[in-house]
Amino acid sequence: MKVPFLDLKAAVADIAPAIETALLQAARSGQYVMGPELERFETEFAAYCEAKHCQGVANGLDALRLGLEAMGVGAGDEVIVPANTYIATWLAVSQCGAIPVPVDPIEATHNIDPDAVAEAITPKTKVILAVHLYGQPADLDALRVVADQHGLQILEDAAQAHGARYKSDRMGARGTATFSFYPSKNLGALGDGGALVTNDPDIAHQVGLLRNYGSEIKYVHEIKGLNSRLDPLQAAVLSVKLQVLDDWNTRRRAIAQRYSAAFSKAGLMPPFVPEWAEPVWHLYVLRHDDRDRFQKRLQDAGIATVIHYPIPPHLQNAYADLGYEAGRFPLTETLAREVISLPMCHAQTDEQTEYVIDRVLKLL
Ligand SMILES: *Cc1c(COP(=O)(O)O)cnc(C)c1O
Repeated sequence: MKVPFLDLKAAVADIAPAIETALLQAARSGQYVMGPELERFETEFAAYCEAKHCQGVANGLDALRLGLEAMGVGAGDEVIVPANTYIATWLAVSQCGAIPVPVDPIEATHNIDPDAVAEAITPKTKVILAVHLYGQPADLDALRVVADQHGLQILEDAAQAHGARYKSDRMGARGTATFSFYPSKNLGALGDGGALVTNDPDIAHQVGLLRNYGSEIKYVHEIKGLNSRLDPLQAAVLSVKLQVLDDWNTRRRAIAQRYSAAFSKAGLMPPFVPEWAEPVWHLYVLRHDDRDRFQKRLQDAGIATVIHYPIPPHLQNAYADLGYEAGRFPLTETLAREVISLPMCHAQTDEQTEYVIDRVLKLL
């Protein structure tokens, strides 16, 4: 048997006709930048996130960058970021001219540690940039306490967490969150896409200007913006997929539960889920102290896995300028050596899930 990590073609098989109809309609609409398809998706996605505003942008990285800019982040400011994240989280900070200040995660969840955040605050700190990693919400209440103590803002990178809940609130419902619609995300476009969701009308307004050349009225420019708009063809696709997102997330949850039940019975530690978290399992991540050989054995058995992520941002050449040496963020570095993400897709069959479990337990 072969189990792909994620089969993007199989993933949309059920709704392919609806997607094709939506695409054709958008292609015939005569409006190819901004317009009604985009507005409709923005309204639907804001409602889904239980938030007031949504601004579609070109990708998840731009959503983060424009969110930070709208919060007033600029040259010389510091933004606290997880050491254990995809590099986009850091790059958004750098693109604003600010400095990413990393912190090691909580070991149980691999997610941002509010105590470590508190320790990293300096007079230059402006924003805490939390990531809802693997589709598991970060501890927002604990972060809010730290932020309020120091007069800081929180931006949530929810690129992996469409539909996840923290204490019954959807990502985006409690403040300002950004999303990516990269094809492999839980809600993915047929190409790049992103959005910022917020209850703050000023942030929404500012991001609306920034993404569109700093302009609300054609040829009238309030600020120096950029061109980062969500393509209406992608918005049309996303509107169709949004209707099935909850079903797909429910299916992911069932696969994760099946994995975790089987692994805990065998004495293998499944991902820890705090009682206040309702994750959407963008990734199902295990640790293994001989990870590379384990991955090779699974690969030989026809099971595709992925490492999220093999080199942390602070050890990438791209961030050599910050001067971090190996050993500076020990937990993040250990995770980079030990984590392995198992196949996870709503279209995965029960037979595939059972096969993965069987091989994982045999090849451990
Ligand atoms: C995917 C991702 C991003 C970037 O999204 P793009 O749409 O690829 O720019 C940012 N942060 C995290 C945590 C991601 O997983």
